Amino acid sequence: MAITSRTPTAVDAIPDASRVWFVGAGPGHPDLLTLRGLKLLRAADTIVHDALVPTLILDLAGPRTIRIPVPRHATDGDPGETTGRLLVELASTGGRIVRLKGGDPSVFGRLAEETAPLRAAGIGFGIVPGVTAALAAAAAADVPLTSRAAASVLTIVTGHEAEEKTSRVDLEALAALSGTLAVYMGVAQAARWGAALVAAGRSSATPVTIVSRCSWPDQRIATATLGTLAQAFTEHQWPAPAVIIVGDVVTPVTPASTGPLAGRRILLTRPSGQADELAAAISTLGGEPLHLPVVRIAPPDSWTALDGAIAEGGMFDWIVFASVNGVRAFVARLRAVRRDARILGTARLAAIGSATAAALGEAGLACDLVPAAANSEGMVAALLPTLHAGRVLLVRAARGRDVMRRDLEAAGHEVVEVAAYATRPVETLGEGDAASLDAAPIDWVTITSGAIAEAAVRLFGERMRRWRIGSISPVTSRVLETLGFPPDCEAREASAAGLVEAICRWHDAPSSQLP
Ligand code: SAH
Repeated sequence: MAITSRTPTAVDAIPDASRVWFVGAGPGHPDLLTLRGLKLLRAADTIVHDALVPTLILDLAGPRTIRIPVPRHATDGDPGETTGRLLVELASTGGRIVRLKGGDPSVFGRLAEETAPLRAAGIGFGIVPGVTAALAAAAAADVPLTSRAAASVLTIVTGHEAEEKTSRVDLEALAALSGTLAVYMGVAQAARWGAALVAAGRSSATPVTIVSRCSWPDQRIATATLGTLAQAFTEHQWPAPAVIIVGDVVTPVTPASTGPLAGRRILLTRPSGQADELAAAISTLGGEPLHLPVVRIAPPDSWTALDGAIAEGGMFDWIVFASVNGVRAFVARLRAVRRDARILGTARLAAIGSATAAALGEAGLACDLVPAAANSEGMVAALLPTLHAGRVLLVRAARGRDVMRRDLEAAGHEVVEVAAYATRPVETLGEGDAASLDAAPIDWVTITSGAIAEAAVRLFGERMRRWRIGSISPVTSRVLETLGFPPDCEAREASAAGLVEAICRWHDAPSSQLP
């Protein structure tokens, strides 16, 4: 027997050596991606991804990364081979390619079919494991997959083949094993394989745990028995994908959430990576946050203006940051042009809102001014007394309000305005995201800027009429009104906490919430 041993491949060491990386995306939530997977996503030029991989994971890649969704059912030939040929084509034009697959690439992922064309073409590839659905489902439902007392065997099996006469799944043999079965792709034919297991001798009282859309915002966990499984599916219509865990392992019931927002599903629309605070506040109060970004942060059309402003940073009296994105983009550009805070000299730094000030702090920059009113007017009012024929740099989004510039110039000061980033609307809803949205009723949608209001109306359209709308500030409320979607409540303080508080207030006294 040949014994081979290979040195583990370090991703950092060989970014290009294996050009195509098969990366397991895990079951859905970005937190369940591996660090190696994250590194490769960030470095990728092209991502070829399963249709169901959520936007929140795709957005971990850079804004310039090309995303190519793979249809679940190829029109001609084997879908695995079709994808494999696409990978060969992409690899021969260069660049770093990530094939991002749901769960783990080697579990029901047509890995062999996809890698065959690469092997044939002599193109190197690497595989990064992911959390497969069974493991994520077991963790979510608090079900041990093995136990000393009841289950010494764990079998991962497809429920999809049970129908065919030529099935390679020997359910009789499986029924005889006293262990746990994790059934993938088992929803459509639950009745068939459930009955077959019982006919083969498994007790119809065997507990079953169903985890539908594991780790997605609309995850659902339910319990049944082998005997009641089919009926339970018909009754509850748990949406796919779902894993069904069959076995004598304990099946505890998840406690219902409590708190002022219990049972409320609240849609978060901010860009990826910027809704954590809002999500945490909602979860703490018992609500269910669902995050579907409607805009993404992209580089501005040109860096010229920002680079020019950075070069003469020390010549301003004030550098004003209007948002967390502005701070992050500014600091990232500072690094990209190989500068640091010294170039800002004696310029003082001002921030609209405490989160923006905190972002400066994270970058090692002290914030000199945070006006009490977290808006442009508040900033102008706070700056004016400090200025005498001053020079002010405004760091902002490519499009935004002109209030600060107008008012500062009117008072005789020189204003330089630069776009540090652009917010681009998300054009279409991904298949998985749309399913999350429609899986259960949404109670609220949170709107945290004018640009987000516009993008949300474009993306969600008439769906928004069915939801209550929470606005973060009067400025945002005005944009919503202009669009024909007046908000149901408005935050008193323009922050995540303020917005959640406004929603809670609405539930206490629904009619008296708007100024
Ligand atoms: N490679 C994937 C499996 C692909 S087969 C993995 O390792 O997880 C598709 C099946 O995986 C679905 O029918 C379902 O049974 C399961 N699955 C994938 N993602 C899931 C999720 N988020 N929740 C529940 N089941 C999931």
